[in-house]
Amino acid sequence: MLIISHKSFLMYIYGQKVPFVAQKGRIDMRVTDNRYAGEISKFNLAVRMIGHEARTGTIRKCTGFSEDRIRKIFGTYFKQGDKTTVKRHRGKSPTQINNFVNSALHQSEATILACLFVYCGLLYLDKAQKGIASQRLDPIKLGERMCDAYETYRSVHPKPELCFEKAWSLYNALTRDKELFFAHCDNCGGPYIQDRYALDYAQCPFCDIKQSA
Ligand SMILES: [Zn+2]
Repeated sequence: MLIISHKSFLMYIYGQKVPFVAQKGRIDMRVTDNRYAGEISKFNLAVRMIGHEARTGTIRKCTGFSEDRIRKIFGTYFKQGDKTTVKRHRGKSPTQINNFVNSALHQSEATILACLFVYCGLLYLDKAQKGIASQRLDPIKLGERMCDAYETYRSVHPKPELCFEKAWSLYNALTRDKELFFAHCDNCGGPYIQDRYALDYAQCPFCDIKQSA
């Protein structure tokens, strides 16, 4: 993960003006410390999300950056000559929930990721309503916590079945659309992600995998 220093960040956003203004001693603090810190958070989040090959629209929603600015960050930090180190995706994010439950392997990874959403503070289990609720987060915090969850998932799954955009899609299916929910396995008692409208045999993908091994 690339986190840039304050100095190179300033060089990035203000270009050649920084040394010129500094020489003349005319820096007035029009940019408040808070705003400055906020800009750095947004910039670092954009870099982190580009590294996960997030779609431009997703990065825009979290950072508020324009498409042009995201393209420039991509060009500056992820291009070596004509080659790029990560892919850029445009268009809409995938929304098919079938991808999360169509095999025991996919269902197990979706379950792990969903548990990491809880662990990283993206959502919580609402015991009163027996459902899943999203934490109220501003877009930057939401993006940062999604990166935390996805990076943890990647650290335990070096060859992941779910890309970063699918992680967002999973989050939306759980919290906004409520098409997926946490079911409980009759066999081991553990939670697993299930399609709300599918026939549920009350057996988790981990038990499925164990039994078929
Ligand atoms: Zn089980």
